[in-house]
Amino acid sequence: MLAAKIKATLRDVPNFPKPGIIFKDITPILKDPALCGEITSALVLQLNGIKIDVVAGIESRGFLFGLALAQALDVPFVPIRKAGKLPYKTIQQSYELEYGSATLEVHEDAFGAGLQVLIHDDLLATGGTVVAASQLVEQLGAQVAGYSFLISLGFLNGKERLSSFSEDVYSLVD
Ligand code: 5GP
Repeated sequence: MLAAKIKATLRDVPNFPKPGIIFKDITPILKDPALCGEITSALVLQLNGIKIDVVAGIESRGFLFGLALAQALDVPFVPIRKAGKLPYKTIQQSYELEYGSATLEVHEDAFGAGLQVLIHDDLLATGGTVVAASQLVEQLGAQVAGYSFLISLGFLNGKERLSSFSEDVYSLVD
């Protein structure tokens, strides 16, 4: 089964990026082209045919399967990046981290008003990152069609924070 294969391939890295955190490292997955293909197909299948006009991927691991997913769906891909990385005019959204805050940006012409945007990232933890991404989508008058993750850490209750934007939250591994 795919979930078991992903779990077996992921690498748990203790004490990264700081003591007490066990980081789910997806780089071993990227070394397996057949598994990457299976993941892209499964990401498409779990969307259940919901209407998607654009896939937005979050820097940086959200770019890896985000573009593949957009190509498989035959829709445009939009990168959502950390502050100061995008070259053209941007809009910003800040969000709280455990210590301090961070800012995400997207080009101001990234989403047309009324478009249905699927937000993709590698992993859902507290949900803070994708909430900020959702606010960027809404700032431009577009709507969040749903969320797609490889991995969701259920014990952090990130899914609950997303329900005001969309109930369609999908992940391959919980
Ligand atoms: P959240 O904002 O939901 O708390 O954190 C999710 C963001 O942090 C995602 O962009 C994700 O890439 C990154 N992240 C947090 N923990 C991990 C982890 O254990 N593994 C990976 N691959 N990414 C993580």
